[in-house]
Amino acid sequence: MVYFFNTSIESFNFTKHGTLMQTNNPSREYLLDYSRDEMKKYIQDMDMAPYRLEQLMKGIYVQKLSDFSGLTTLSKSLRDTLNKNVTLRTFKELKTIKSDNDGTTKFLWSLHDGLKIESVIIYEGTRVTFCISSQVGCALDCQFCATGKMGFLRNLSSGEIVEQVILMMINADKPATNIVYMGMGEPLLNLKNVIKAGEILSDPEGLAFSRKKITISTSGIAPAVRKLADMNTPFSLAISLNAVFEKKRRILMPVSKSYPLDLLLENIRYYTSKTGKRVTFEYILIDGLNDSKKDADQLIKLTAKIPCKINLIPCNSNDPNYPPTPNERAKWFADYLHQRGRTSTVRLRKGWEIQAACGQLYAKNEKTIGRKISESSKLITHV
Ligand code: SF4
Repeated sequence: MVYFFNTSIESFNFTKHGTLMQTNNPSREYLLDYSRDEMKKYIQDMDMAPYRLEQLMKGIYVQKLSDFSGLTTLSKSLRDTLNKNVTLRTFKELKTIKSDNDGTTKFLWSLHDGLKIESVIIYEGTRVTFCISSQVGCALDCQFCATGKMGFLRNLSSGEIVEQVILMMINADKPATNIVYMGMGEPLLNLKNVIKAGEILSDPEGLAFSRKKITISTSGIAPAVRKLADMNTPFSLAISLNAVFEKKRRILMPVSKSYPLDLLLENIRYYTSKTGKRVTFEYILIDGLNDSKKDADQLIKLTAKIPCKINLIPCNSNDPNYPPTPNERAKWFADYLHQRGRTSTVRLRKGWEIQAACGQLYAKNEKTIGRKISESSKLITHV
């Protein structure tokens, strides 16, 4: 299980030697994959005047056009040329389900190669959170997670991450206040594309989304946490902790066999001291499994000296082995943390009746199984 340790973060891109290589829209350029600088270069290569950059950015990100036919600031012949050579959409909307209870909206998209991902909009008072995917499936096999059961199929490109957000913006009842990488996949195993997508989403000439309001959430890829600290990225960081005793965490989240809690917490402390930012610990509350006083005491101990807040989330798994902690107990847990100096909130279960947790809608509609961490020794030794 030491295979992760010998590998650089960049090389975690499992697709390199996999059979499911990323081939973004093979026939046409996918402009959502382009940073502003890359778009500038594309414009130069196409012999277009530099001022076209602003027009294209506006058409793509402000008007959110699906092709260039509606970008009337361009001549008809230029629009036709662009439509022939580039694309702004690669997704098909397969399913959209909206909760009658709380408005939570879940999307199932088909990608250009027929693989499927999910994205979710969650409404909570004034907060509107877009929960986006970073990979198709996930290798990390967290036991409570439907995506983990799928295994890993491939990384999303930066454009595919951005396209989720654009399509959700078009569909949402209210503007997004937060974007979180808490959909399918482990974002820190697709770090390059995740960071690039964050930069595109926050480009002031594009969607101009606040960098601080974009949260990268990890299950605990410890070296990548350190790397994020060194990169000093402007985005926020959340860690999905869920168990505070190593033995239990290894069962619940097998990633802990590669990156034990001690190492993870050491790197989180490095992150907070180097960046001056606080982190968020996500803690899924599972009835009778991780919600005792002993768990709460250990959580307090582990998070000492780490500037953080703790989000408590009653488990939303479709696996009956992982029932949610009842509301009263969750409130007790939060109060207990609070009384001992931890900032904690209990997040209400949202969209449970529409399978809003990551991977659940996919699992209902698809049976494709990818690679899991238990098979990753083969994958990692290849990269
Ligand atoms: S919880 Fe996240 S990291 Fe764990 S299996 Fe699911 S998608 Fe992967």
